[in-house]
Amino acid sequence: QRRPPRFSALRFSHPPSQPLRIMADGDPIRKWILEEGGASRITRISSVGGGCINTANRYETDVGSFFVKTNRNIGPEMFEAEAAGLDAMFSTDTIRVPKPWKVGSIPRTRGSYIIMEYIEIGSSRGSQAELGRQLGEMHKTGNTDQGFGFHMDNTIGSTPQHNPWTADWVTFFRDHRLGFQLKLIKEQYGDNDLYAKGQRLLEKLPLLLQGLDNVQPCLLHGDLWSGNVVADSHGSPVILDPACYYGHSEAEFGMSWCAGFGPTFYDAYFKVMPKQPGFEQRTELYKLYHYLNHYNLFGSGYRSSCTNIIDSYLAVAC
Ligand code: ADP
Repeated sequence: QRRPPRFSALRFSHPPSQPLRIMADGDPIRKWILEEGGASRITRISSVGGGCINTANRYETDVGSFFVKTNRNIGPEMFEAEAAGLDAMFSTDTIRVPKPWKVGSIPRTRGSYIIMEYIEIGSSRGSQAELGRQLGEMHKTGNTDQGFGFHMDNTIGSTPQHNPWTADWVTFFRDHRLGFQLKLIKEQYGDNDLYAKGQRLLEKLPLLLQGLDNVQPCLLHGDLWSGNVVADSHGSPVILDPACYYGHSEAEFGMSWCAGFGPTFYDAYFKVMPKQPGFEQRTELYKLYHYLNHYNLFGSGYRSSCTNIIDSYLAVAC
């Protein structure tokens, strides 16, 4: 009900300026916008700040705007995974997500691009209650009978995230989430102590997750922190830049230490996805995946958070 029809409802927010001649003929972005995107003129290209990894631009045209990210050094796999995640979330028709249109390689470079729906981002943070409710709806609606995983590997930050379809949640979370990050820490930093502790935790995982006999795979955004949550110009929540997979719904809150979710958010979420017994006992376990990833990405400043969480679970699971 919030989502604009394909192009017709898109409007310029600024009067179009003089047509630009920046893009060379044969440029695949320009070509797609003009041939398949329904535009006959690109009137302005402006850069959009705030990203961590890629260059972002807004392409204004006579049929509205397109949001384009490019990366000069990474092939299309990263954007293909982003598009697959956006598409999966978009298909649930629950929370606003930009519709991905096209991913491709940039000729004569190692780079790639993604073209997606441009969303006019508003100045407010949006309603926490709406965000909670709509995220709950996405978890409730986004199901699969293929198990835990995703049809594509993706990245969490820039760390690879493997998503092979796995029948059982404990195995998936043990091998492809915690186990993978621990192995990377050992390889990158030679941190054998943390690795050894981590292995003991992995052995205890069935015990720590034992209350969860019937976990349903839910479509998760996968990297839900405040930098990936905005509101559109109507104040409706929008989630961006996902690392999607089907997993236990509670794993979505693994980044909650950077998300600023308050009681209003959780109340609204639990009205849709009722809180499962033992929720509080599992929250740190799900955060651990992201703390381990932060250790891998940003170094030993995150080591003590990882150790503290592992120690606390080892203490209760002896
Ligand atoms: P990166 O992949 O480099 O992290 P982001 O996906 O975070 O880049 O996008 C960069 C900025 O562009 C974000 O801060 C966000 O506000 C804005 N943005 C992202 N997607 C859209 C979109 N579809 N429409 C409009 N603005 C967007």
